[in-house]
Amino acid sequence: MRLSVSNLTTGYGKAQVLFGLTLEVATGELVALLGANGAGKTTALRTISGLLRPWGGQVWLDETSLQGLSAAQRARRGLGHVPEGRQLFPLMSVEENLRLGAAFLAWPYRQEGLERIYTLFPRLAERRKQVAGTLSGGEQQMLAIGRALMGRPRILMVDEPSLGLSPKLAEEVLSTLAQVKAEGVGVLLVEQNVALSLEVADRGYVVEHGKVVLSGSARELLSNPGVQKAYLAL
Ligand code: ATP
Repeated sequence: MRLSVSNLTTGYGKAQVLFGLTLEVATGELVALLGANGAGKTTALRTISGLLRPWGGQVWLDETSLQGLSAAQRARRGLGHVPEGRQLFPLMSVEENLRLGAAFLAWPYRQEGLERIYTLFPRLAERRKQVAGTLSGGEQQMLAIGRALMGRPRILMVDEPSLGLSPKLAEEVLSTLAQVKAEGVGVLLVEQNVALSLEVADRGYVVEHGKVVLSGSARELLSNPGVQKAYLAL
């Protein structure tokens, strides 16, 4: 499956944020979306997932246009989203949070999903009865990713998973995304830590003022002088 975003425009009120964003993510690849604060990365993910209305442009999953579909309908078609700030239910247990991620699936998928998430994140299995609000930051991020995976997405968009985490935990969370990719899911990763994200990504896009100004393999981006200067402090 392939997510294709073509010429997407949107904004808030009169303030335009996306100026014709175009990108693609296929299943089985990990793609980084890079850019300075305010470039429009979060806005892009929210528009693709159906939380924000586009002004123009198109989002496709293979040959199917997602135009006019709600976020829930897009999730059913295979598009997962781990929002910035995790948005967990802090008073509910780990397992209850996970089950909510599969609420729209038939029962056998729900059970199978739990086992898969606990294999991927053994730390969540140990804490399945603990309320989400008392988990560490890294564990909460794993839970947010696990909950999105419970919906069996083919393409998973993840917004700033390392925010507020120690470098070691950030690395752990990003390496689980590499595992998710290895299971055949396409991952679109928005990440402040450009060096770390290009370590796990296959390729990436650099966004400036709401559109893609550069794209290439992770290796090409890492050796690009503009990227080094702007994002890698070299
Ligand atoms: P960051 O890495 O800082 O999160 P970003 O690239 O994800 O940056 P966005 O969060 O998409 O950027 O924000 C793009 C622009 O849209 C910014 O100028 C921001 O102030 C503005 N913006 C974001 N959300 C809203 C909102 N709800 N209402 C009005 N303006 C908004």
